[in-house]
Amino acid sequence: MISKPGLSNNGAIVDFAVIGSGIAGASVAFELSASGASVIVLEAEDHPGYHTTGRSAAFYMAAYGNDVVRAITLASKSFYQSPPAGFCEYPLLRPCGAMYIAREEQLPQLHALYQRVSRLLDNVEIVDKAFVLSKVPELKSDYVAAGFWEPTSMEIDVAALLEGYIKFAKRQGVEFVFNAQVKSLQFSREHWVIGSSAGQYQAKHIINAAGAWGDVIAGLAGARSVGLVPKRRTVCIVKSPDNIDVRGWPLTLDIDEDFYFKPDGGNILITPGDETPMEPMDAYPEEIDIALGVERFQQAVGIKVNRVLRTWAGLRTFVKDKSPVVGFDSKVPQFFWLVGQGGYGIQMAPALSKIAASLAINRGIPQFDTAMRVTADSISPARI
Ligand SMILES: Cc1cc2nc3c(=O)[nH]c(=O)nc-3n(C[C@H](O)[C@H](O)[C@H](O)COP(=O)(O)OP(=O)(O)OC[C@H]3O[C@@H](n4cnc5c(N)ncnc54)[C@H](O)[C@@H]3O)c2cc1C
Repeated sequence: MISKPGLSNNGAIVDFAVIGSGIAGASVAFELSASGASVIVLEAEDHPGYHTTGRSAAFYMAAYGNDVVRAITLASKSFYQSPPAGFCEYPLLRPCGAMYIAREEQLPQLHALYQRVSRLLDNVEIVDKAFVLSKVPELKSDYVAAGFWEPTSMEIDVAALLEGYIKFAKRQGVEFVFNAQVKSLQFSREHWVIGSSAGQYQAKHIINAAGAWGDVIAGLAGARSVGLVPKRRTVCIVKSPDNIDVRGWPLTLDIDEDFYFKPDGGNILITPGDETPMEPMDAYPEEIDIALGVERFQQAVGIKVNRVLRTWAGLRTFVKDKSPVVGFDSKVPQFFWLVGQGGYGIQMAPALSKIAASLAINRGIPQFDTAMRVTADSISPARI
């Protein structure tokens, strides 16, 4: 076939151009192509998952986030437990449990969380100090008063999840183009013309899965901002003492999310739970946040941190109500939002991508085998 001048992809007009190849873009490309649509994914970086997706703490916790997030997280579980045959080599989830901890003065927050989620999750419980210490013996006994225990919380193999989506999307005919930063979007004669650093593409619909850059992409398309705020979160891995085996610890979170920690191999992952508003960018850690994380960890745990092995930061991107933004723009034609996943974009990805693909092909919200329902209104860009 002869290429049309100035147009990549042989000038073909695909059904969907997905902008971004983090977990959101990769998973929705998989779901859209599974329904028979032609899809191209344009990614600015030279590999998938370079930004937020590659920088997460990788946990699946059903109690985390608001009720919309919880419903989508719960609806994702069946995919995690039984992905399509050949999707990954090993299970995507590893059981670890999650323990929210509270000091005496934080007990009201602990009970409030229990009140909110115990009607949705039958396996959570408030546990006493002795139980908390049996799970994390190195916590200082005069620091912690009680805990909220979610035994079925899991660790996600994020790399395997992303790789599985891309592998299966490619098998279904999706083309991934890297080093393809989208720089212009023009709607002309029923389809979009997309200018990128890898050439020009054409698509009937745009799927905006650009993470922290979601409002920038909207601006290129002439759509109104939904008020996305990328917030930096810092992580460090510290060396655990040679005489302490931390591998059996659960994910342990301060009830106000002022810090959390979990085992990382034989070492310890710590975050100060920072949420610093930023412009979209390649986020990097600040010394002060690392020091804060280590200090809060040492206040709670009887371990002195002697060596920081690795640090990074990533952007968790939220709108005001902290629910994701999924659906067609109300003004700009054939422009679909899939942004605002905040700190829950990995755990929600399986169900959120099914929802997004189904809405994008005008089939409405799919049914899931879970008690909590997700409504189109609760995630629609029109609510903002
Ligand atoms: C420290 C930290 C801990 C976290 N822990 C968890 C957790 O335990 N569990 C959980 O579920 N979630 C967690 N999250 C959140 C989760 O990582 C995000 O919600 C998720 O990765 C968002 O995925 P995304 O695909 O929307 O964004 P991204 O992964 O950032 O992907 C967006 C992509 O769009 C591309 N892009 C942007 N602009 C353009 C353009 N103009 N042209 C082409 N491409 C473009 C970018 O290069 C990028 O690759 C955490 C996040 C952080 C930072």
